[in-house]
Amino acid sequence: MDETLCSTMTKLSPLKSILTAVLFLCAILAKAQTTILITNVQVFNGKDEKTILGNVLIVDNIITKVSTQPIPTNKSGNTKIIDGKGKFLMPGLIDNHVHLALNTMSQADLLKPEITSEKLDEYTRIEGEKMLLRGFTTIRDLGGPVFTVKREFDKGLFPGPRIYPSGAMISQTSGHGDARLPNEKSKRWGGEVSKAELMGVGFIADGVPEVLTATRENLRSGASQIKVHAGGGAATAYDPLDVTQYTPDELKAAVDAAEDWGTYVTVHAYTPRAVKRSLNAGVKCIEHGQLLDPETMKLIADKGAFLSIQALDEAPPTAPENVKQKKHTVIEGTDNAFKWAKEYNVKLIWGTDYLFEPKNGPKQSTDILKLQTWLSNYQILKLLTYENAQVFKLSGLRNPYLEAKLGEISEGAYADVILLDGNPLKDISVLSKPDTSILLLIKDGIIYKNLLNK
Ligand SMILES: [Zn+2]
Repeated sequence: MDETLCSTMTKLSPLKSILTAVLFLCAILAKAQTTILITNVQVFNGKDEKTILGNVLIVDNIITKVSTQPIPTNKSGNTKIIDGKGKFLMPGLIDNHVHLALNTMSQADLLKPEITSEKLDEYTRIEGEKMLLRGFTTIRDLGGPVFTVKREFDKGLFPGPRIYPSGAMISQTSGHGDARLPNEKSKRWGGEVSKAELMGVGFIADGVPEVLTATRENLRSGASQIKVHAGGGAATAYDPLDVTQYTPDELKAAVDAAEDWGTYVTVHAYTPRAVKRSLNAGVKCIEHGQLLDPETMKLIADKGAFLSIQALDEAPPTAPENVKQKKHTVIEGTDNAFKWAKEYNVKLIWGTDYLFEPKNGPKQSTDILKLQTWLSNYQILKLLTYENAQVFKLSGLRNPYLEAKLGEISEGAYADVILLDGNPLKDISVLSKPDTSILLLIKDGIIYKNLLNK
């Protein structure tokens, strides 16, 4: 409860005695430190394969001590002691490619007149809570209007993950992010600004000046990184997979505007041509990359860029024929992409990327299992925590969570942890059943779930 809420409550209360009591409580809440001691847990710190049996101390929202020895605490009543019963404690999960708002409904529903920004925020809060309860304490949102709910989650007003927001996806006319309906005319040629654009789904920007404005518009709203579409998409009906989107000058414009704010551009791109052009323009992260060749994979490594990869599913039977074909082509390339990324030591990060497919929300948990084709259980855990957190450093001063470390359990890290009923180093499927396997969930020092005493 924050002080503003306390003062509102006191205004509403008709009784003077209640008012005094609430004021007193507010004073205590405003000053008191929250201390949580989790004892007797098997700690996976996000980096090391070897776990330790020990204790973890959390003061407010920071992990202040991790020790195999008992941690002395102030027994005055302010410390909540949780017996972890020898269970497995690990950092909260990170999903590096999410569309939190845009996966709450289909594209057709989103474009209906009754869906206002406020309504979409309501859906986004609901999905945010579900995502948090799946154990995802941090997400990088790669397109869509999430700035309002992000601030609410950060304040603890609603349960939800930490969000690294990109804002509207930046796309050329005809690009992967051009979300107009087939009959909608361009705003340049007799049409109107599309609803998708007005809602903050994407910006259709052509030419250097428009790309600069679109990038700066997102930065103004609080974007921690900029998402640009640099090539054809699998899920869109009209842009072929092989096309390259944006000229070198346009890509460079986005990079320049982002770098002037101390942050970076990440691009949607599958093909060698789109990826090479992006890297040469100074792009620091590639989303997807399933159709790359060894030479381009090596270039990603040489440039020190990140590759944010997904293990996608085939398109549903109801999808248009060309979408099915495109998705299949991307899936066929996935195996090579993983192999070459490992061979060339590319900085690999992972995300799920569900968009306009609300039913697929829970796949965020089961998609983890697909990674077993290429990675050991330990490598998967490290990818989902410590390694996924490394890309956040590219946001520089635009990183909304600069105060502490993410993706690890160590002294000075944010208190984002999950306690599991089972050891995912031995059986990774534990992570695919969050409802039952997550016994305790803490984000930013706040307990959002605790089944330990049930
Ligand atoms: Zn995406």
